[in-house]
Amino acid sequence: RNAQLPSLTTFTDEARIALDTVADRAAGLWSPAIRLGVTGLSRAGKTVFISSLVHNLIHGGRLPLFEAQASGRIARSYLEQQPDDAVPRFQYEDHIASLLDERIWPQSTRSISELRLTIEYESASAWGRFLSRGRLSVDIVDYPGEWLLDLPLLGKSYEAFSREAVELAAGPARADLSADWRSLAETVDPDAPADEMLARRLHELFSAYLAACKQESRALSTLPPGRFLMPGDLDGSPALTFAPLAGLDGGRGKPNSMRAMMERRYEAYKTHVIKPFFREHIARLDRQIVLVDAMQAINAGHSAIADLERSIGEILACFRPGRSRFLTDLVMRRIDRILIAATKADHLHHESHDRMQAIVRRLAERAIARAGFSGAEVEVVAMAAIRATREGTVKQGRQNLPVIIGTPLAGETIGGETFDGETETAIFPGDLPDAPTALFRKGSQAAAEPELRFVRFRPPKLERTAEGLTLSLPHIRLDRALQFLLGDQLA
Ligand code: GDP
Repeated sequence: RNAQLPSLTTFTDEARIALDTVADRAAGLWSPAIRLGVTGLSRAGKTVFISSLVHNLIHGGRLPLFEAQASGRIARSYLEQQPDDAVPRFQYEDHIASLLDERIWPQSTRSISELRLTIEYESASAWGRFLSRGRLSVDIVDYPGEWLLDLPLLGKSYEAFSREAVELAAGPARADLSADWRSLAETVDPDAPADEMLARRLHELFSAYLAACKQESRALSTLPPGRFLMPGDLDGSPALTFAPLAGLDGGRGKPNSMRAMMERRYEAYKTHVIKPFFREHIARLDRQIVLVDAMQAINAGHSAIADLERSIGEILACFRPGRSRFLTDLVMRRIDRILIAATKADHLHHESHDRMQAIVRRLAERAIARAGFSGAEVEVVAMAAIRATREGTVKQGRQNLPVIIGTPLAGETIGGETFDGETETAIFPGDLPDAPTALFRKGSQAAAEPELRFVRFRPPKLERTAEGLTLSLPHIRLDRALQFLLGDQLA
């Protein structure tokens, strides 16, 4: 009899688990979940995208191309507690309050955060209705694209990282921005005893140089380490207080030397920052949207476009199968759809939306092909998560010119006029070239760089209906993005 006891216990345990599961389902606690990663470099539009997506689903927004919503199969969408207690929550309510009450853009992404949105729907097929309870939880994971670009460091020694960083910093594009850091780095003897204050100073100057590369006027591509630009909650920790050193020869650093300390911290950064981030967050994603600020690049001209192409390539490469054992094992098993979305299309007249999409497609094409996405579907869209403008026409002589109308942010200027942030203004945004290739041709500046007039607008004013309901946030093609990312899950 004794021999039977353990199996009896096991049976009871199993039964309890099974019963609990049934009970959970009955209580409506159980539902399938999908993890949607939202990334993009700083200011690409992640916060605005997530806020608008959630708001439009919760408030039944106009989403004609999002089939489940358009056909009336979605009963309701609502926020629930997120599954990961250790990850900060995406502050949806604060962001919506900024947008709707104050008409200012919300606080941008500075770290990782998460939000669970649950959708109750009716399956499109009778069989589906029979099988499923019609609940889908979408765990939205917002994280800086800068952190993704750390992946190549995993395969790099401290010496190689230093050598590359020193070379790039001294190159013509970056020499002036890196001058302060380089002049200090050149005085450092790697074999001298470790000096905490010197390490901190080197880190500060190196970080300031990386940040300077991202200024709007320079828009140089993002260099790792990503946490130097977006430290999240690790600011000031030893794993972040390092920098490349100049003049390293092969071999290893002497014990307790400057080099040994920097090397140890670099390795700690890989072990305690990069790897856990990929393991705990990226590896668990099912779908991914990569936001890019194509408007800014097109506006800044040819070299910024080339740079955007490079950064799309670098980000996509992070999801590439077979890039490293680490990733093949962890990432590619899960992510089956990637959407590259150029946001802020509301800065253009609708006639240019397809052109913008063609430009982004062209930017992404080579990266997609190079990455050879087996199984992962990659799509491209030009959209505006929140549409801050409407369209109109202005008569000029005998011509009717298409314009966009919005409230430019206070301090924005066009043709010598400075805006006060309160006045609605019609702006002729200019045209994108018909053939995207024109943008990629070097040299012929006149043809290559379109005459665009680009000002930043305030978020739109939402009208209230007679019943006092606030309408959902207007957008451009957000429904297309949703259909690609979630449509099949709600079939
Ligand atoms: P994040 O750093 O990726 O979180 O970027 P945000 O979502 O905070 O967006 C950065 C800025 O881009 C915002 O403050 C807005 O000025 C602008 N922006 C983002 N999305 C849109 C959009 O859909 N339309 C317009 N007009 N501006 C946008």
